[in-house]
Amino acid sequence: MKLVAPTIVTCGNCGNAVLFHRVCPKCGFYRGRQVLTPETNA
Ligand SMILES: [Zn+2]
Repeated sequence: MKLVAPTIVTCGNCGNAVLFHRVCPKCGFYRGRQVLTPETNA
């Protein structure tokens, strides 16, 4: 077992830093598709 740092990628939609293979929590995009409703604290 060894610790592996999570890979951080940049969301192609909003530019937010997100974990690789995770949905962007900011805009809800994953691999160029909107897969969930973004949290809009309007
Ligand atoms: Zn995003």
